[in-house]
Amino acid sequence: MTDGIEDRIARGSAPNPSGAAPSGEDMYREHILDHYKHPRNFGVLKPAAVDHEANNPLCGDQIRLTFNVNDKDEISDVKFTGRGCAISQASASLLTSRVKGKPLSEIKAIDRDQVVQMLGIPISPVRLKCALLSLAVLREGIEIYEKKLPPPG
Ligand code: ZN
Repeated sequence: MTDGIEDRIARGSAPNPSGAAPSGEDMYREHILDHYKHPRNFGVLKPAAVDHEANNPLCGDQIRLTFNVNDKDEISDVKFTGRGCAISQASASLLTSRVKGKPLSEIKAIDRDQVVQMLGIPISPVRLKCALLSLAVLREGIEIYEKKLPPPG
């Protein structure tokens, strides 16, 4: 049974328990734990153009996203709530910060590599589901939004 850094982070282990100067790995871990403990954009928007949620049954993670889109096709505001491991929640915090104020066309181009890069640690295949849950909810939410738009003409 391997115990990679992402598993320790997912469990919310205290960073740097030895008291030694933080290594590069510890700095990344603190970055994720900071977003986990102090999530950005946490809450529910009311009213919201889109209110969508999904879960990752493998880990028990759940993410609900609400967002609004302005007349320039930008996400004017976005909030999330959820529960689950630190990686899923930190990823939602990072992703919502990343997409706020950005055009939908740019947001739709965000891929899994960029999400992993935002997290800043190597993610094992098992933890990838956790890391990418918020991106999946966001993409589905944008699809829902675009289907609701009246057809052009
Ligand atoms: Zn998880």
